[in-house]
Amino acid sequence: MVADSLLITNVHLAYSDRTLEDKLWSVECHEGKVTNVFPYGERGRSSPKNELDARGGFLLPSLCHSHIHLDKCFILDRCNLIAGDFREAMNVTAVAKAGFSLDKEDLLRRGRKLVRESVDCGVTSMRAHVEVDIQAGFSALDVALHLKEEAQLACFLQIAVFAQEPLFSSAEDTEPGPNLQLLAAAAQRDGVEAIGSAPYVEPTIEQAIKNIALIFELASHNSITLIDFHLDYNLDPNSEPLIYEVIKQARLVCPSWKSEDSGLFGRRITIGHATRLQLFKPQEWQHLCDAIGDLPITFVGLPNSDMYMQGRAQANEPLGAPRSTLRVPYLADRYGLHVAMSVNNVENAFTPQGSVDPLALCTFGAAVFQAATKADTEILTKSVTLVSKIAMGQTNVPLHLSPQPGDTADFVILHGIHTLRQAVLNPSYDRTTIRNGIVVACRRTRRWTVIKEFPLPQTSVTPISWWWYMLFPIYWPACLINWFVGPHRRQLTREGVMIS
Ligand SMILES: [Zn+2]
Repeated sequence: MVADSLLITNVHLAYSDRTLEDKLWSVECHEGKVTNVFPYGERGRSSPKNELDARGGFLLPSLCHSHIHLDKCFILDRCNLIAGDFREAMNVTAVAKAGFSLDKEDLLRRGRKLVRESVDCGVTSMRAHVEVDIQAGFSALDVALHLKEEAQLACFLQIAVFAQEPLFSSAEDTEPGPNLQLLAAAAQRDGVEAIGSAPYVEPTIEQAIKNIALIFELASHNSITLIDFHLDYNLDPNSEPLIYEVIKQARLVCPSWKSEDSGLFGRRITIGHATRLQLFKPQEWQHLCDAIGDLPITFVGLPNSDMYMQGRAQANEPLGAPRSTLRVPYLADRYGLHVAMSVNNVENAFTPQGSVDPLALCTFGAAVFQAATKADTEILTKSVTLVSKIAMGQTNVPLHLSPQPGDTADFVILHGIHTLRQAVLNPSYDRTTIRNGIVVACRRTRRWTVIKEFPLPQTSVTPISWWWYMLFPIYWPACLINWFVGPHRRQLTREGVMIS
């Protein structure tokens, strides 16, 4: 469904030019596309049916979860964390997963909460990973397909069937086990658009390499052009970076992937986590960029999970665990490598902390990456909007954060702020979400406080300009009193003592 027309007025836009960012604008949308952007107060070309007064708020492209788990969100209450490490997270989540097929209503309730809260934040598209294996069966997939239908007006759910568990049952196996058969059956279901796995869970490195090849084969066999690996999720300098195996398979299996598809979704290989690459020296990064060349490969950093889970072996080092998530602004600046950021998990053993809000990752990123310049805030914002949409395989992604005629009218308006810097460093809670030119969600704060406002107390000696004393010497005594008393009073005030 696409709205006839919408006029968004009285809004700040994310222009790089400060003068343009300071101005107020109107954005005209017809049939889901931006048709005109003009200064607020001027007349547009037409009279749209619907009008939205943003009251000086700030408009961004809508937010995107390029990597989120729909099935294992909000299960922290049933995971007893003791060590808090990855092995424990796998084990307690496996126990929780055993209940998925027994209680689909629970899956639906939690998945629905994730989708609704995401749309409230300004998310209009997401790649939803759903696990398919002998524990979960198809229960998570069934629920995800239901939610895809349910949410279609507000948010596009791209379903990625995902093997979180090993495809090989034991280290001795040379052939994959039943998890692969289930994944193959899931890949054939209508509504499934992407396929993925976590090769690092395989018992051996040889099996991890075979896992990558098997996923490419499955994708190719089912004409799936969107592949997603949870990859190189470690900080071990002695481990082999498997990204090169992905590149090798991409060139072997899909030589035509170099070219972009003209459809809504093209061909894309998405790499989540990749924390191992944080150990790369400059020449290793350059080598990787050269190896990728024109292949459509996009990285997705998952800072909430990466920072929580990685680097635990260094807990007793002087500075503790290192920064273990892909440095988004640094990689863009040094290597022109555009990395998306995504939430990954909400309230589970892999990521117990954080909300569904992608903009919260930008705020976190400003500290983790020490990045708060204007250029940094642009890169961080793109990583949870435009670059995340590219990572999902979308092909109609705008180039700029400010809307241009022809762009899809998918926006989030942040109320109560008016600059990109505020959107990144201290984003507002109050938001309006627009998809295809339709307002699909609205989130507002209700406030009440006991604090009452009252005027500052008057000073006993009115500060007077120096030239006034020169003109009227009668005020010299007052000047002297002001000279001695003023600094003393200011000091008291700084210390929080109120003087009447
Ligand atoms: Zn994940």
